[in-house]
Amino acid sequence: MRNIDITKKRIGIIGGGQLGKMMILEAKRLGLYAAVLDPAADCPAHSICDRHVIAGFDANEGYFELADHADVITYEFEHINAEALQILENRGHLVYPSVTSLKAIQNKYEQKNILNRNDIPVPRFAAVAGTDEIREYGEKDRFGYPLMLKTATGGYDGKGNALIHNEREIENAYRLLGGGAKGLMVEEFVDFEKEISIIACRGIDGTRVIYPIGENIHVNSILDTTIVPARIGDTAINEAASIADRVMEVFEGVGTFCIELFVAKNGKVYVNEVAPRPHNSGHYTIEACFANQFENHIRAIVGLPFGNVRLISPAVMVNLLGENDGAASLAGLEEAYRDPDVHVHLYGKACSKTGRKMGHLTVVNSTVDGAVEKARRAKSLVRVIGW
Ligand code: ADP
Repeated sequence: MRNIDITKKRIGIIGGGQLGKMMILEAKRLGLYAAVLDPAADCPAHSICDRHVIAGFDANEGYFELADHADVITYEFEHINAEALQILENRGHLVYPSVTSLKAIQNKYEQKNILNRNDIPVPRFAAVAGTDEIREYGEKDRFGYPLMLKTATGGYDGKGNALIHNEREIENAYRLLGGGAKGLMVEEFVDFEKEISIIACRGIDGTRVIYPIGENIHVNSILDTTIVPARIGDTAINEAASIADRVMEVFEGVGTFCIELFVAKNGKVYVNEVAPRPHNSGHYTIEACFANQFENHIRAIVGLPFGNVRLISPAVMVNLLGENDGAASLAGLEEAYRDPDVHVHLYGKACSKTGRKMGHLTVVNSTVDGAVEKARRAKSLVRVIGW
């Protein structure tokens, strides 16, 4: 048997936000060294990392410096400099998930093309160059209205999307999304019953594990609540799980991925998008599964077998968003903690902004209904206010 001291491995993470911080917490459980690249001196991961490279995400320099302090590089978000990572990968640095899978996912249009080519169901979509083409897809015999317009790159939390209800809204939507500077695509509007997501992990050797399915509720295009297990029928559950497994195969992802899907009112399941990283909708795994999405991500990228992804108990996760702008302060924690099923996570962001993700809370309970009720109560108590 080979004797490898895994604890000597150094992990480099691009992005020191809450996802990077939660990756480090798990890396530390295994005694690993963790370096972070983030331009913000006080980013959430700063307080617990071994080294912080303070540099931007656009230029190459920060990536190269991070690589000097890492045996394996990973990332907490996908809008990063893939060319810098490509140079590092070419020089023999380990980057997981691979730069090929990152590039395939960075562009939503390319991502959908790959899924479509591999017979993975997605809503009908098309690249569009200008308003005339958008108008064509709005016609009844094409996708019709309402019609989704999306930027191909750079979108998150719905910021690259516009829903067009009729022809008169086209010009405005086109301008709102930057007039094509980031590439544009149209997509048929899915009249969905539920939005769901699946956290899946794939190892360097191709081994895959799939977490239980979460049901997601978005408010203003930002994730508000995840309920697990998702309240959908067995057919949709099996279909979604098999789609997620195929997605992991297609992208040859190493690490934790999130596959967001729609369950349409007609019962069909479609992939909305794939994220090559742990995801907000997988935070429930911290309390509700034996091995959480961050632990299995770290295990994957250092070449260890996966921990058990089984659900211990139903769970509900609710995001804690900043209520206004100002220095962040927290209210209601003591009262919320009178219920021992409530678990609050605060990301350590000094500044609150309206709608900014400041933390989340997870409630575990023996029933889904019980967890929903307790989460609703806890959310009304715990508030992040700016002063
Ligand atoms: P982002 O990458 O910014 O999160 P998404 O493409 O996931 O953007 O879209 C954000 C939200 O917009 C989705 O969670 C869903 O509620 C809605 N949405 C996106 N695409 C469609 C679609 N084709 N049909 C219906 N709703 C959609």
